Amino acid sequence: MPNTYASRMGTVHRSFIREILKVTADPSIISFAGGLPNPRMFPVEAMKEAAVSVLGTSGPASLQYSTTEGDPVLREFIAGRYSKTKNLSVTPDDLIVTTGSQQCLDLVGKVFLNKGDKVVIESPGYLGAIQSFSLFEPEFVAVPLESDGPDLQRLEEAFADGAKVFYAVPNFQNPSGLSYSLEKRRAVAKLLDKYGVLFVEDDPYGELRFKGEHLPTVHSLQKKPGILLGSFSKIAAPGFRIGWLVASGERRDKLIIAKQAADLHTSTVTQAVMREYVLNNDVEEHIRHICEVYGSHRDVMVAMIDEYFPDTVETTRPDGGMFLWVTLPKGCSSMELFDKAIERKVAFVPGKPFYTDGGGENTLRLNFSNAEPDRIEEGIKRLAESIREFVR
Ligand code: PMP
Repeated sequence: MPNTYASRMGTVHRSFIREILKVTADPSIISFAGGLPNPRMFPVEAMKEAAVSVLGTSGPASLQYSTTEGDPVLREFIAGRYSKTKNLSVTPDDLIVTTGSQQCLDLVGKVFLNKGDKVVIESPGYLGAIQSFSLFEPEFVAVPLESDGPDLQRLEEAFADGAKVFYAVPNFQNPSGLSYSLEKRRAVAKLLDKYGVLFVEDDPYGELRFKGEHLPTVHSLQKKPGILLGSFSKIAAPGFRIGWLVASGERRDKLIIAKQAADLHTSTVTQAVMREYVLNNDVEEHIRHICEVYGSHRDVMVAMIDEYFPDTVETTRPDGGMFLWVTLPKGCSSMELFDKAIERKVAFVPGKPFYTDGGGENTLRLNFSNAEPDRIEEGIKRLAESIREFVR
């Protein structure tokens, strides 16, 4: 049989996390593995009302093809929130509504990446971005993430060495839960401007801050901003698959062409229902509620870790988002720990796949948004037992 696959498929693998999620589908397993929002936070009733209203008042229009840029009222709402909550001046004409923010990564790859282009990525980095960009066969340049943001020296070296794109998640990163300090945001913005590197700033978790002050996006600190991504997945519901990107001028035009080629436009009817939902409900109050609930989950998880994990195990203590990052003593493999943990019916995601430069064998990701507090308590106890047996 001749090999019919495109060569680009040789470097891309099935998402490791999606494979793990198959194992954790067993309801007796307490899973901290998925990156799932808590379904109790989904505004089911309000969405039902929005859907009935849309189909009742503008049924045919909401079922018709629509523009690639996306619903103008929804874009106006998104732009308005940037100026209201982030003091960032964005117009509806700077926005494209996308099929989740995940689609933005594919569009960025199509518009900007040639084979062999250098893409700087945090280490550890978001697996979905690694997978999406890999289809364009770039050279990944990994820059270590420190507790307050990237290693600036390594970042500058990568930029000076001809990097084309820098992709990062500065707020409550997936997988680590780490955020950039204000100082590092300023320094990163300066380096991006100095070297003319295109910054793709992915911000699905910025709204989910339980403690402290919101910090400005790097995008807003740049003299020559890049592309900023956002999403309704974590503040409304991921099943809608509605995200967006902020880009201007020719860049936006090219991204629109790529989106036209990909899927013509984001689903008209889901955009209409989301539009109806955001116009008729108190979105800010809903986000506050999510923060309250996830903040309490995070507190339970951290308290249980403090009580039960050995002192040789380190964890991040994020002030927002959905994830916590665990570092086992050097030489311990979280892949091996995973097998032990599954025997005790608790699951997490081993950290290694999040590193494009190797390493990370002793790290793992825990999600705290999805499981309820009593399950978090029990799950961390089980995990601590597995770790104690394993680490010795
Ligand atoms: N970026 C990051 C950093 C994420 O964690 C996720 C969700 N796992 C996405 C993008 C994709 O989100 P969506 O397509 O649902 O907007």
